[in-house]
Amino acid sequence: MAATNEQLAQRQNLFREANERIEHAATTVGHVGFRPFICECSLDGCVEHVEVEATTYHDVRGHAARFVTLPGHEIAAIEVIVERNELFQVVEKMAVFGEIAFSGNPRQ
Ligand SMILES: [Zn+2]
Repeated sequence: MAATNEQLAQRQNLFREANERIEHAATTVGHVGFRPFICECSLDGCVEHVEVEATTYHDVRGHAARFVTLPGHEIAAIEVIVERNELFQVVEKMAVFGEIAFSGNPRQ
């Protein structure tokens, strides 16, 4: 059975929590620059990494409904692309899916 859009949005919350732990660990050991975060997309089975600089990651986390994914890993039904380059893109959840993202924000 295909996942609902709500389930897809909740899946991203799990990856965001994992990335917060990666970010915390990297900061703790004094690592700077690009970090291998987990792609925060909702595509079924995606376990790829996305290289994002620490400062960029912090900017994205400043918006509860935004996630970092590999380019092309957006799902148009639930999100829009707000930034894109060769390495990664930033997507923002729409409407009700944004609510799910807000509810799971580890930085609230
Ligand atoms: Zn992905």
